[in-house]
Amino acid sequence: MRLSWVRYNLELKHSFTISGFSRTSTPVVLTKIDHEGLSGYGEASLPQYLGETQDSVIRFLRKVDLCGFNDPTKIDEIVDYIDKIEPGNTAAKASIDIALHDLAGKMVGKAWHQIYGLDKKGIPDTSFTIGIDTEDEVKKKVCEALGQFNLLKVKLGGDNDKRMIESIRSVTDLPLTVDANQGWKNREEALDMIYWLKEEGAIMVEQPMPKSDLEDIAFLTESSPLPIFADESVQRLGDLDRLKGVFSGINIKLMKCTGMYEAWRMRSLAKELGMKVMLGCMTETSCAISAAAQMSAGLAFVDLDGALLISNDCFDGATLDYGKIIVSDAPGIGIELIKDLQFGTE
Ligand code: MG
Repeated sequence: MRLSWVRYNLELKHSFTISGFSRTSTPVVLTKIDHEGLSGYGEASLPQYLGETQDSVIRFLRKVDLCGFNDPTKIDEIVDYIDKIEPGNTAAKASIDIALHDLAGKMVGKAWHQIYGLDKKGIPDTSFTIGIDTEDEVKKKVCEALGQFNLLKVKLGGDNDKRMIESIRSVTDLPLTVDANQGWKNREEALDMIYWLKEEGAIMVEQPMPKSDLEDIAFLTESSPLPIFADESVQRLGDLDRLKGVFSGINIKLMKCTGMYEAWRMRSLAKELGMKVMLGCMTETSCAISAAAQMSAGLAFVDLDGALLISNDCFDGATLDYGKIIVSDAPGIGIELIKDLQFGTE
């Protein structure tokens, strides 16, 4: 097996602000693994606030030696080797894991949703994300989304949360999921806000308070009329046990948890622990989005709009149909490279 990669920069259609950060582009590294005439593709998406960069990903990829592995379908052995190279580097690891899944699926001639035994009909509507912005911009973005989506995800935790919601409500009564991105600091105020949001048609809340404030969050989950999901508080499989009883559910993202292999295990363990599961994303091409979409059937919430926010996607993959992500039955993760990119090992 031969690994190669290329740097790529995703151009955002609109600048995007969440609690604390604003950006207009997102760097990624795309990976390719070749084996016996087949190629699998992967991706590391690198929003600045997560700490990995194109340089750090490539430094990691240079340490990876797949020569000792002859069977791409032995994913467990390979991801175990990758994970032990160095701690952290979760997006870099995900870029190899995704390429490996794409390749392994192509080797056996099956799409991953088929390998997982999932029914595509059970894929929930994806939400479309509205970042923190001025009232006019918020209304404009919501109006663009109307007719295409049945669920909006609103980024709160700024200075004008109620005004954000009121702006949205002036143009639509679609249900809302809310992501505070750790932005609320006081649990009583957070609880009041959650009750108010419920009246406004919100149906869940993601990461209301700072990721380490687990006692406050457990209080909220206990008292809240809406389910409370962990995002920043959960990274990998090993985090799940301590979050039982603290959150109602978890947001799994391939870039946080090293890819599909671990994401699938988190999905299963969370369900065993009685927690709800949602799948999220960063700003990503259709490569990583399609990979996540493969395991999205049967989940509580899906937030896989990352590729819809960019103007220079370099893959064809999962598509959107009236608010639903449609995964392809093509083998692997169901994608096709549509730009001429020069993969290499420099
Ligand atoms: Mg979030």
